[in-house]
Amino acid sequence: MAKKTVKKHQKGSYTTRRTAARAVRAGAAAASKAKKPAEQYVFFFGHGKADGNRAMRDILGGKGAGLAEMTNAGLPVPPGFTISTAACNLFYEQGRKLPAAVEQEMEKSLRKLEAVAGATLGSTEHPLLVSVRSGAKFSMPGMMDTILNLGLNDETVEGLKKLTGNGRFAFDSYRRFIQMFGNVVLEIPKQEFEGAFEAVKRAKGARLDTDLDEQDLRDVVGRYKKVVWHKTRRNFPQDPHDQLRGARDAVFRSWNNPRAKEYRRIYDIPDHIGTAVNVQMMVFGNRGDRCATGVGFTRNPATGAKEFYGEFLINAQGEDVVAGIRTPMPITELETVMPKAYRELRAFTTRLERHYKDIQDFEFTIQDEKLYMLQTRSGKRTGYAAVVIATDLVAEKLITPREALLLVDPTSLSQLLAPVFDPKEWKALPTVAKGLPASPGAASGQVVFTAEDAVAWTEQGKKVVLVRKETVPDDIHGMFVSQGVLTATGGMTSHAAVVGRQMGKPAIVGASALHVDEEHHRLAIDGKIVKEGDFLSFDGLSGEVKIAKVATKPSEILQVLNGTMKPEESGIFRRFNRLLEWADKLRRLGIRANADMPDQAELAYAFGARGIGLCRTEHMFFADDRLPIVRRMILADNEADRRTAVLELLPLQRGDFYGVFKGMHGCPVTIRTIDPPLHEFLPRREDLMVEIAKLEASGGDANELAEKRALLGRVEQLHEFNPMLGHRGVRLGITYPEITEMQTRAIIEAACQLKKEGLKVVPEIMIPLVGHVKELRDQKAIVERVAAETMKAQGVTIQYLVGTMIEVPRGALTADEIAGEAQFFSFGTNDLTQMTFGFSRDDIGKFLRVYQEKKILDADPFASIDVVGVGKLVAMACELGRKTRPTLKLGVCGEHGGDPASIHFFHQVGLDYVSCSPYRVPVARLAAAQAALSVKVGD
Ligand code: PEP
Ligand code: MG
Repeated sequence: MAKKTVKKHQKGSYTTRRTAARAVRAGAAAASKAKKPAEQYVFFFGHGKADGNRAMRDILGGKGAGLAEMTNAGLPVPPGFTISTAACNLFYEQGRKLPAAVEQEMEKSLRKLEAVAGATLGSTEHPLLVSVRSGAKFSMPGMMDTILNLGLNDETVEGLKKLTGNGRFAFDSYRRFIQMFGNVVLEIPKQEFEGAFEAVKRAKGARLDTDLDEQDLRDVVGRYKKVVWHKTRRNFPQDPHDQLRGARDAVFRSWNNPRAKEYRRIYDIPDHIGTAVNVQMMVFGNRGDRCATGVGFTRNPATGAKEFYGEFLINAQGEDVVAGIRTPMPITELETVMPKAYRELRAFTTRLERHYKDIQDFEFTIQDEKLYMLQTRSGKRTGYAAVVIATDLVAEKLITPREALLLVDPTSLSQLLAPVFDPKEWKALPTVAKGLPASPGAASGQVVFTAEDAVAWTEQGKKVVLVRKETVPDDIHGMFVSQGVLTATGGMTSHAAVVGRQMGKPAIVGASALHVDEEHHRLAIDGKIVKEGDFLSFDGLSGEVKIAKVATKPSEILQVLNGTMKPEESGIFRRFNRLLEWADKLRRLGIRANADMPDQAELAYAFGARGIGLCRTEHMFFADDRLPIVRRMILADNEADRRTAVLELLPLQRGDFYGVFKGMHGCPVTIRTIDPPLHEFLPRREDLMVEIAKLEASGGDANELAEKRALLGRVEQLHEFNPMLGHRGVRLGITYPEITEMQTRAIIEAACQLKKEGLKVVPEIMIPLVGHVKELRDQKAIVERVAAETMKAQGVTIQYLVGTMIEVPRGALTADEIAGEAQFFSFGTNDLTQMTFGFSRDDIGKFLRVYQEKKILDADPFASIDVVGVGKLVAMACELGRKTRPTLKLGVCGEHGGDPASIHFFHQVGLDYVSCSPYRVPVARLAAAQAALSVKVGD
């Protein structure tokens, strides 16, 4: 089954990320579906009191819940109101309109806001300006839309000027507003505005935006209004109430823009949960040099180090920082520039971290040296940082080990196993640029300059590094497939950095030595030109960039596990281990690995697997020295010849089993008898035909020709129209009993030998693809006969079990009968999914995406268990099986055994263990503990 297996491995890393997110989110989806439409749709916050609180993320979104909680805690939060996610759903249900009752509720909250703010929307004396920002339950950085400075028009802008005595500021705010509103609400391309802005700058000879004065900005506003007229044949809306409704609806619409949809697809965020809209009084970071805006984290989100971390820009508005347009200053410099605001910020954010018991990601604005908090939420972090932070918070006695387990997304642990560069080789190469180390990991690949190229080149099997001047949210699909992302501008909280960390992609941002020429697909660094397709490598932990293809080596964790590094030398290993030991104490599910070779068994054991749930014996047949014997076995046209070939395999298989048992140190090992259709061991028909034609044409060796012709004949004989439903699994053992005999003998002999050497092993012999109890009965009789003969010959008695895979729907339906013969079941959820849906596991890729787009399927059912259908068969088979045999051992060995969401399900139906690939063992250990705690991360 070579083909099948390779595909599964390729799928691994992609599906891992997706399904972990689903584990995190499945509960949320169910909760929000179950909820009746809330009666209250608009929630006020301001003056130390909010209608909502942190527990209301479903309704208020993450941002809304954070604003409410901070308000209640007495932090300086500009007042405002949140229009709920339920309103978003109503908006879509009612044909992109809100019911009058919600409109009225909003008007009421607006009046309350005006009273609290002492300003009125549309007033020329005291104009109220607001921001209108999206905020879903799960943060989707940069994917949806935001509008700032709403409420400005030709008259209120003059009022703002009068009120602040700052005409430049008033017109800068107005031009920003027209630009954002024009783009988001009126859907005018950004470039139209950028072109007009650049024209004014050019005319003035200005280098920076800040070089423009009030008059220039009036000019910009005039030009922007013309752009709006030209593009929409309407004047820019002057009524602030119309502006507000338009902006609100546009934010709701942005929930369904292509990049937000793509983001939700990647992270399995349900489509139906909707976004909230936050309307909040503006405070200004762009009102002069005593103003600033910034973002930060209470700890380093890339490494987890306990350091106050973030960046800010003086005289700027929020979007400037995250957009990556200007490279901001590190937050520590704020202490020098505005010490009082800095001290307050430290105090507030420390309080928030203690309150939420987790790293906080915050946004703030300073207006005339007064600090305002605009957002707080649990910070996105790398897998590396997640482990460091969780273990640190326990050491600081802020949380318990139990709580620490819930702070780490199980799939993110895979990032800690990702390769690193060999330090010697890396050091020997010249560093051509250094940027901000935004997301750790070693990235090496061919340079591409667009997200589209990243996808296209990856589809051709190339490894690429995506290089951009700055990344924008639309690049998400390209970032996803790249080895790493490198940008010339932006700070640690720019989009590339945030998304890179979340994806566990190595990322360097703000590498200002890079001169990226996206148009001509090349870049200049350090006097050298790097063209599209050239190799580039970078280290996301140190921030160093080198022009070379550099090989990688195992991560620190693996180095410790394979003995090349001592545990004392690796802090991250010790933390990783500590966390997983906490998990082991809490989980009920056993963790096994799917491993076929002794070294895989050793690695799985080192990762914490305590058993093998699936040893696919046929993988042992593919080795170069074995394939000819296997082929002889297949080509034999009589039983005697077949037995001779099979016997040749015996010592080899015995050696394999001996190694695997030993690698598992006496833990249970499930060995499956041969499964794949035999043609998989033979050359392809088309290849043979070509070879024969060549030999014939060149008058080649007659013996060789005869051999090839015989082979072709057998290949044609073995051809099946539907091999996955053909002569495979137990059907092979029934038609060629000598194979089952040989495999049983090899297993029992290896176990006897080990027993003589002092290691007790309990082999579990597993028959695949059983759909009828009589199939199992047939094979079990062979196994028991040969095992008895072998033990007798060896003079050793060993304990062994005979069981079956449940992977054919009929097997699940008749599990009560089958359990009469089987001592254990292992759910083969790959085949069970294939046969329950009738989807070919090798071909689903051709239509899965469309199925997902059309919402026929939420997720890939081969990656995460289809609870409703396939899951029902699993649950039923468990119940039926245990009714017949209460001691029946139950496990799963399909790919779902390493998927956190599926692990939650397997825990619930009462399996004894899950089995997954060695690299997913840590993921499974943590997910099993979270399942035992019955809590999903993020809820
Ligand atoms: C399965 O079908 O789930 C299974 C583990 O077997 P294989 O993938 O080898 O068919
Ligand atoms: Mg199978």
